[in-house]
Formats: sequence, structure tokens, C-alpha cells
Amino acid sequence: MKVMKFGGSSIATPERLQSVLKLIQSAEQDGQVAVVVSAFGGITDQLIRMIDLAGQGDDAYYIDFRTFVDRHEEMIKALTSEKRQLELQKSINKYTSRLSEILRGVYLVRHVAPKTYNQILSYGERLSARIISESLMEAGSKAGFVDARHFVLTDDNYGAGVVDFKVTTENIQKHFQANTSTQIITGFIASNRGGETTTLGRSGSDYTAAIFGAALGASEIEIWTDVNGILSANPREVPEAHSIPAMTYEDAMEMSHFGAKVIFPPTIQPAMQADIPIRIKNTFNPDFPGTLIDKVGQDKETRITGISSMDAISLIRIQGSGMIGKTGLTGRIFMAMAKADVGVMLISLASSEHSICFAVDPEGAPAAKAALEEEFQFELQVQGIAKILIEDNLCIVAVVGENMRHTPGISGKVFGALGDLGVNVVAIAQGSSERNISIVISRDDEVQVKQELHKRFFSDTE
Ligand code: ADP
Ligand code: ASP
Ligand code: MG
Repeated sequence: MKVMKFGGSSIATPERLQSVLKLIQSAEQDGQVAVVVSAFGGITDQLIRMIDLAGQGDDAYYIDFRTFVDRHEEMIKALTSEKRQLELQKSINKYTSRLSEILRGVYLVRHVAPKTYNQILSYGERLSARIISESLMEAGSKAGFVDARHFVLTDDNYGAGVVDFKVTTENIQKHFQANTSTQIITGFIASNRGGETTTLGRSGSDYTAAIFGAALGASEIEIWTDVNGILSANPREVPEAHSIPAMTYEDAMEMSHFGAKVIFPPTIQPAMQADIPIRIKNTFNPDFPGTLIDKVGQDKETRITGISSMDAISLIRIQGSGMIGKTGLTGRIFMAMAKADVGVMLISLASSEHSICFAVDPEGAPAAKAALEEEFQFELQVQGIAKILIEDNLCIVAVVGENMRHTPGISGKVFGALGDLGVNVVAIAQGSSERNISIVISRDDEVQVKQELHKRFFSDTE
């Protein structure tokens, strides 16, 4: 059994979908496949736009809704015969009328609850999976449609559901024991115990593929996208970035956590735990081997694996002479963050303990500051802590690589490059695993820093 996942970019047009159907059918020759699909390219963004407009009482949402309907109809017309079209169109109409009603409700009350928000988003994947399963049948395969909401159980965290793996695995295994045809599975969506729709986070279809792959003991999880695998940097920013033939689960986790959007970070965990290799492949260049992620990784020749970045972060800095030697401060800071539900992406602590800074999503920064001000009310008054500051317009650039652990001089090279560029370093952190050196710099310097680091680490002359 192999799991194949196709992202939105791979199925953005009828022509692209046609090539995807061929890839699925060619894989069917070699054994059973389960296919996870995203919404058609751009559809989730369009659904979000509709919710935003409707929520503001702006009837322009309906223009987006019409193009949404048209795009799905266009797919159906291009990929199914007239006879199948009639039936399929009838059932798709039911979905879209319901969606229209829900959006109208949002428009009228000018409010959208999290469960409604995620229910609306689910239409992207429900429609694409339904249309793709019918198109695959049209092309001559035996196919089934799987609404993952009946299989993947999460908690009530609507936009980033935490998966109950025990129940989910049982559900999936039971279904696949009874169904051996190619199942087309909706990525991204799940449900909670109350049967309400939840989602796994933006880009979550990759995670769905890993959840199904792990439950089914798949031989491989293939993530099909629009680039030649995981590249040494984002190709949109560093044009000379090259495809990395192999990397460890840990490196893939670091690369994706620090912004390589090509794979959704939580995807790695279930695959790693079940020791199932993940392969990133290019739908537009299917013969290219892509990137293999497993526990072995690449050979020891390469010093670093790649360069990633998170392009918008805020830094919270808490400082004051009264902090020196005080025990328990760090604990209190991070408890306050947990209570305020603010995720911390990087921590840097001066050894004098005179200042601690950490990176958070800019959206969470005001809540983080408020939580710290509450926690340290007393210290702020008596000047034990002088200031809690937010610094904006920053990014994190991370140099990632398993082999860095055995190679001296990597940080020297990083800081040499920054010095030569005259770029100011706001904060630094080295992962305790030594697989990652992260630097916080101004967003204005991000692209030139990535390009320069790429040149220094990967060009042949170095
Ligand atoms: P999909 O629609 O298949 O899910 P995504 O847009 O989520 O595709 O992910 C693929 C994109 O990730 C690429 O087009 C590329 O712009 C971006 N990307 C960012 N960093 C990297 C990287 N290091 N390697 C490859 N792609 C990257
Ligand atoms: N359609 C969802 C998104 O755009 C999930 C995915 O594509 O993986 O985020
Ligand atoms: Mg993606």
C-alpha cells in the first residue's frame, strides 16, 4: 500500500488533474494506493475571502461564491462524460447550495463561529475529492470517496485539531479492510467528538496523508507538489536552490518548522514513528526522484542541508537588572505564554540572565506582552524588571543540517556572511540538537541574507 497526496497546485486546472489521474493509474499497476487530495489550487484562500467578506456584511462574497461554483463545474465538464456529469452535478449542487446557505447566514449575522468557519473550509476538499474520485472512475479505475471527517478524530481546537491517533487508526484500518479500490480521501479536514468539522491547520493535507499512511502501514507516503522535492532554500527567493536527494526526518522537521512550506511540519511525526519513508515528488516532473525523507538521510559530505526562514515574527524582550540570579523567571515567562495560548518559536537567553527574548507570531505579540505584564506586575513596579518590549518587522533565518553536529565552523561562516553584508543580528539561537542555527534579523534583510548564505554554503568555489 502506498499513499499519494496531491496538493492544490497539482490539481489547479483540468489539464493538471488529467496528469494526476495518469499518475494514480500508473501507481495502481504496482499495488494498492490511497490518495489524499487538497482543495483545487487557490480554493481554500477563496473560501476564507468569502467568509471574511460575508462576516463584514459585504455582499461581494457572492461574486467569489459564483467563481467558486464555476471552477468546480469546469472541472466536472472537462473530466467526466455527459452521463456521469448529470449525476455528479446533482450531488455537487447539493453541496454548493448548502454552502451558499451557510455563507448567507454569516452575511446576515455578520459573525462566524469557529465551527462554522471550519465547516465552510471543508467544502474545498469535499468537492475536490468527490470530483476526483468520479474522474478516476471515468478514466476506468475502481475508486471510492472518503470524507476524512468520518475517520480523523480531533479535539475541539477547530483550526488546528489535535488528532486522537488511537480512534483514528482504528477507523481507518476498518475502512480499508473492507475497501480495496483506490480511495480518494479529503485532506485537511477532520471532526471532533461532537461530530463538528475541524481542520488540521493550513497545508494540513500533508498531515492527513501521514495519518492515513501510518494507520495503514504504507510502504511510502508520497507528497506530490509543484517543485522538485525539498530544495536547499525556497526557490522563489533563491533561484539557484537545488533539490536535496535525501534527508532525515529531523532535518525535514527543522526545515519545515522554519518555513519550508513544501511540507507541513506535523506530517513528519506519524511517519517517523511508524518508520515510513516520505518522498516529495514533482507532479510536473514525475520522473525526477525528488526528496526521500527517512531515518538515514543523506551522506556525510554535505555540511548543511538547507536554509529556511519564517518571514514574519515579533520578538518579545524582557529585561532588567533585577532578573539576575532570580530562579524561576523563565518558568514563569513560559507558563504565562502557555496560559495566553501564544506559541514560542525561538528562545534566546543571555547568560547574565539580564535579558530573555523569544520569538512569537506577530498576531500573538500583544497578548504575549499583556500576559507578561500581568505575571510580572510586581517586578515591573519595583523595577526588578525594567521593560517588556515588542520588536516587530523581524524574521528568522535558519541554517539546518544533521551533519552540522560534526562540522566546526558553521556559525563562523554564518556570522562572517552577515558581517560582510553589514546586517544587524537581533538575536541568535542554536538548537540544542545542534541541527539548527537560527538568527533573528530585519525582514528587509531576509532575502539577501538567504541568497548570500546559500552562495557561501553551496557554491562550488567555497
Ligand atoms: P501544495 O499545493 O502542493 O501543497 P505548497 O505551495 O504548499 O504546495 O508547497 C510548495 C511550495 O513550497 C513551493 O512551490 C515553494 O514555493 C515553497 N517552498 C518554500 N520553501 C521551500 C523549499 N525549501 N523547498 C521547496 N519548496 C519550498
Ligand atoms: N486546502 C488546505 C489549505 O490550502 C489544505 C492543504 O492544501 O493542504 O491550506
Ligand atoms: Mg502544501
